[in-house]
Amino acid sequence: MKNRVAVIGAGVGGLTCAALLAKAGLAVTVFEKNERVGGKLNWLEADGYTWDTGPSLLTMPYVFEGLWEKLGRRLEDDLTLVPLPVTCRYRWTDGAVIDEDAAFWERPDVARFLRYARGLYDLSADAFLHHPLDEWWRQLRWRNLSKLRHLPKIASFRTMDGVVRRFFGRDPHLVQLFNRFATYNGSSPYATPAAFNIIPYVEAKFGGWYVKGGLYNIARALERICLELGVRILTGCEVQALGGIGGYHLQTNLERTGPFDTIVCNQDVLTAYPRLLSEHPTAARFQRTHLERLTPSISAFLLYLGVAKTYPELSHHNIFFSDDYPREFHQLFTEREPLDEPTIYVAVHSKDDPERAPAGCENWFVLVNAPALKADCRVDWPSMAQEYGDRIIERLETRFGFGGLRDAIRVRRQFTPANFETRYLANAGSLYGFASHGVCAAFQRPKLQPDGLRDFYFVGGSTHPGGGLPLVCLSSQIVADKILRQHTKRRARG
Ligand SMILES: Cc1cc2nc3c(=O)[nH]c(=O)nc-3n(C[C@H](O)[C@H](O)[C@H](O)COP(=O)(O)OP(=O)(O)OC[C@H]3O[C@@H](n4cnc5c(N)ncnc54)[C@H](O)[C@@H]3O)c2cc1C
Repeated sequence: MKNRVAVIGAGVGGLTCAALLAKAGLAVTVFEKNERVGGKLNWLEADGYTWDTGPSLLTMPYVFEGLWEKLGRRLEDDLTLVPLPVTCRYRWTDGAVIDEDAAFWERPDVARFLRYARGLYDLSADAFLHHPLDEWWRQLRWRNLSKLRHLPKIASFRTMDGVVRRFFGRDPHLVQLFNRFATYNGSSPYATPAAFNIIPYVEAKFGGWYVKGGLYNIARALERICLELGVRILTGCEVQALGGIGGYHLQTNLERTGPFDTIVCNQDVLTAYPRLLSEHPTAARFQRTHLERLTPSISAFLLYLGVAKTYPELSHHNIFFSDDYPREFHQLFTEREPLDEPTIYVAVHSKDDPERAPAGCENWFVLVNAPALKADCRVDWPSMAQEYGDRIIERLETRFGFGGLRDAIRVRRQFTPANFETRYLANAGSLYGFASHGVCAAFQRPKLQPDGLRDFYFVGGSTHPGGGLPLVCLSSQIVADKILRQHTKRRARG
C-alpha cells in the first residue's frame, strides 16, 4: 500500500518529519515557500560576516542525538556540537555581572531552586515531551507513583515569577535572571504558570551548546539527509490551498498537485487554519477556541551587525537587562508597543568560531523582544525599524559601556515582526504560536492531530510540545511515529 506524504514547510519540524518518514520507506515531497530550507533557523552573509538569523543557542542536544540514531546515523558525522562553558553572561545597568556557568548552578541558593525544578522535570518531562498531549497522562504509571509527590508544583496556580520570588525574593538580579526563562517560549513570567520553571533546570542539566559553522548547519544536515533518503524538496513553492476527495490535492503558486494520502503541516497552525483550512468545518471551532481566546507569543526585532572590532568583555551569549522588567512585559502583552527600554540579547558566534567574521571583527546578533502584531492597530515596523535599531545601539553605548559601537559597525541588517509574518507566515509575527499564559497553557496548545481531519498532522513550534529547536524536533518525532503506526495497521489490513 502506497503512502504519499506532502510536508508543507521545510522548517526543522517539516524536515525532521520528512526524513523519518522517508527512512521508513514512504514517498515524501516537501513544499517550502522560501528559496531556502530551515524556516526560522536560517542564515545571512555579507562582506565576510555570517549570521544565524534565528536560533543562536542549542539546548537538550540529546534530542538531536536521538533523532540521528533513529535515522541510522551518528550525529558527530554530520554536526560538531560545542559545549559553552558560560551559557550566558548577564549584565545590569548598575554594573552587576553574573555568568551562567557550572559554579553558578552550584551556588547554594541556585542549587536549592534547581532541586525544586528537578521535581517538575522528573514528573513531567518524559510524559509531556515525548507523547501527544491527549496521551501524556497514560505515561503516569504506577512505577512513577513516587514522582506524583511533585504534582502540586505542576498544578500550582502560582506564576513562574511568584515561585522565583519565593526563592530569590531578596536578590532582584536573580529574580530577573530566572524570570527571563519565560521568554524561551515567548511568554511573560508574570502570567506563565510555575511549571515552566522546568526551563532553567533543563538548561542547567543539559548545558548550552553551539554548532560549529553555525546552527544553520542543522538545517543543512537535515536537508542533505532528506535528499539522500529520496525526499523531493521543492523550494519557492507555497501551498495556497488544500482540497480533494480520496486523497489531498495541493494548490501551490506553481501548480496543482496530488493526490497525497497524508499531510504534515509545518506552517504555523494559527495561519494554516485561515489560509489552508478555511472551508473545513473545524476552522470555525479553532477560531473560537484558540484564535479568539489565546494570546499570541512575543515576536522579536533583530539587528545583524558586522562589527570591525572585538570586545573582550562580551561572552558568546549576553543579556543586558532593562531596569523595569514588569513594565517590559506590560508593554509587550498589554500595550502591544515596541519597548522603550528593552532588555537586549547579544550573541557573538565568532567568539567560538572566528571564521564567522573577518580577522579582528565580530558578528553580532542583537535581539530585543517585540509585541506580536495587533490586528486592529499595527506597529509600522518598516518605517520605524531604522530609528528603533539606532536606539538599541545607542542604549548599548550609553548604558552598557560600548562607546564607539556605532562607528565600528561595517554591516547592518535588520528583521522585524512584520518580516516574520510575511517570510514564515508566522501568525501576527509571533515566534512560538501562543504564549503559555494561564494554568492550563500547556494543555491548550493546538493538537498535533486535529479532530475531524483524516491523515492530517501539524508539526512545529506552534503545536505540542512547544517552540524551540529540540521541542520542534520532538513534535515531528511524535507525529512520524503516529503516521508510521497508522500505515503499518492499514498495510496489515490490506
Ligand atoms: C529570532 C529567533 C531566535 C530563536 N532562538 C532560539 C534559540 O536560541 N534556540 C532554540 O532552540 N530556538 C530558538 N528559536 C525558535 C526556533 O527557531 C523555532 O522554534 C523553530 O525553528 C521553529 O521551527 P518550525 O519547524 O516549527 O517552524 P518554522 O521555522 O517557522 O518553519 C516553517 C516553514 O514552513 C514554511 N511555510 C509556511 N507556510 C507554508 C506554505 N503554505 N507553503 C510552503 N511553505 C510554508 C515557512 O516558510 C518555513 O520555512 C528562535 C526563533 C527566532 C525567530
